[in-house]
Amino acid sequence: MAATITEQEARIQVRDAGLRLLREGLVARTWGNVSVRLDDHRYIITPSGRTYEELQPEDMVIADYQTGKYEGSIKPSTERKVHEALYRTRKDVGAVIHTHQTNASVVAAARREVPPILDDQVQLLGPTVRVADYALPSTRKMERVCVKALKGRNAALMANHGALCVGPTLEDAFVACVVLEKACKAFIEAEFLGGAKSINIFEAHLMHQFYLRKYSKEAQKNR
Ligand SMILES: [Zn+2]
Repeated sequence: MAATITEQEARIQVRDAGLRLLREGLVARTWGNVSVRLDDHRYIITPSGRTYEELQPEDMVIADYQTGKYEGSIKPSTERKVHEALYRTRKDVGAVIHTHQTNASVVAAARREVPPILDDQVQLLGPTVRVADYALPSTRKMERVCVKALKGRNAALMANHGALCVGPTLEDAFVACVVLEKACKAFIEAEFLGGAKSINIFEAHLMHQFYLRKYSKEAQKNR
């Protein structure tokens, strides 16, 4: 289980992550959503239909990923079901970010899996970036296809929609979004240079595993 943080810390982290995503050009207007796991049944998520600039820490919504119920009168993001499914099924996930970031959306529109083409992509995100099958937002199918595409990965594309990034902390999920955008840009632009050349898939698996082990050792040391 990822390290737990206090409710107030989580509210500030989610607000700050939204602003950083906005500054990096990875989200716009009210699109996308950010969440953090609080404990063994609750998480905190951005509300529905608000722009990132106007969001305050107290606007974030606490919900239960086991029951789907939420606290207070502010409605949580309508795309929260995918976050809930990930918290239920992935014990290593402490934060989830969903974006409509441009380059990832281009690859998602083409429904192309991103092969292992950059070392940082492979280390942080996993050996490939899969594309989740198309599903209508807020459906059970959407939950199912996203969990499947993210198996053993920290990022996935959602067919004709956008991207999903996860990590043990919100900082990790944020970095995953940045690295994913760079990898998708490299993948698209390499097409004009004769196509991206893949790293050997076995070596890609090794690199990702090495990164995960090294990361968990460092995280333990810093505890
Ligand atoms: Zn979306």
